[in-house]
Amino acid sequence: MSRRAVIITSVARGGVAARAGLRGGERIVAIDGREPWDSLDFEMAANTPELNLRVQKKGGTLREHQLSRSWGESLGMTVTHRPRACRLSCRFCFVDQQPRKMRRSLCLKDDDYALSFRDGFFVTLSNLDAEDLKRIITEGLSPLYVSVHATDPAARATLLRPRGPAGRDVLPLLNLLAAHGIELHLQIVLVPGFNDGDVLERSLAELTALGDAVSSIAIVPVGLTRHQRDDGLRRFTSDESRRLLDWLGPVAENVAVARGRPVIMASDEWYLSAERPLPPAENYSDYPQIENGVGLVRSFLDSLERKRRARKGRGALRGGHLALVTGQLAGPIIERAAVALSKFSGAKIEVLVLQSLYWGPQVTVTGLLTGLDLEAGLAPLATRPVAARPRQVLLPEVMLNEDGLFLDGLGLEELRARTRLDLCTVAPDPDSLWETTLAS
Ligand code: SF4
Repeated sequence: MSRRAVIITSVARGGVAARAGLRGGERIVAIDGREPWDSLDFEMAANTPELNLRVQKKGGTLREHQLSRSWGESLGMTVTHRPRACRLSCRFCFVDQQPRKMRRSLCLKDDDYALSFRDGFFVTLSNLDAEDLKRIITEGLSPLYVSVHATDPAARATLLRPRGPAGRDVLPLLNLLAAHGIELHLQIVLVPGFNDGDVLERSLAELTALGDAVSSIAIVPVGLTRHQRDDGLRRFTSDESRRLLDWLGPVAENVAVARGRPVIMASDEWYLSAERPLPPAENYSDYPQIENGVGLVRSFLDSLERKRRARKGRGALRGGHLALVTGQLAGPIIERAAVALSKFSGAKIEVLVLQSLYWGPQVTVTGLLTGLDLEAGLAPLATRPVAARPRQVLLPEVMLNEDGLFLDGLGLEELRARTRLDLCTVAPDPDSLWETTLAS
């Protein structure tokens, strides 16, 4: 039974929790009379106007606290979530493909169905016991996001390298969840020579046979950095991406016709690598895996077009000069966006397509650019005459964590000081890009 201690992290002064006598560091042992599984139980219960908490105080004594809040009022407290640990050693795990001295927070491997339900994180279902499954079903923790990779147990075991039998055979678990109405969003990270070809064909046939509970299946190419140490792994070539799309198109179409909506979707990276046009919006249904890079580019281009047609702010930046930073994968898309924005606003908009020196040339995703990558990539701007420098450089905010730090721990302020450029962040969606640019 994998219950996780729920510890109060902070209590706001004067808030509901503080008035009820709760303090940071105390442990919640029961919520409305029931022992919590984890912080998810607290978050769900916290939405109700009345809440009873049994709490273990610092000295070990137990006390009951009755919390009442009015409509819209916050409880004024936060709790920790200690994620369930991953028990696997996947060949392509990104955590293992980092430089040896990476920040500890980036080396944590979790595999937590509560985070899958709450935040859409992918899990392998390899660390569930019967009690966990019962909880998922009785509490209706739906939808869940599951990394399948292969339904063939031998192929899955070769990729995930579980220590015991758990983790090999995912199909019975998916079957059970589907039978109890848990909605499933699935992904297959495709690795050449491991789970493509016949293994992929079998996986798609068996997953679509699970019925309507399977809402989406994303096919995503494996990502590798220059720090990966498994000689048996490689990326798909552009030709292989084209062949994959040629094969997958009719398979996905047949399933879409049978279901009345698209289910199988290739991630954007396949189309960019194959230099093929992105499918239209209707191929992505309601973009169920946009956070997984499936339909992100299509959605971006379509919203950009809607903005352009709206005509608000036309010519607002005549004579201005801005720069947009992007990784190599999204480079062509951001360049298209910049041309449209430039024509519309009247400003010169430069696109700086940066390479990741840190991870190596195989990693082309914008969100993985580090502070040092940016410092190196932006250095040529500082050598230009002042009149030729962009007035402002826009950085996609996906590169920073909530503390304003890049992946290598460098802060935005520090980067501003080192580059002596006016750097500002922008959300990686067309609305924000459009509005931030026009407001510059
Ligand atoms: S499930 Fe696999 S990829 Fe995810 S953290 Fe664990 S080892 Fe890494």
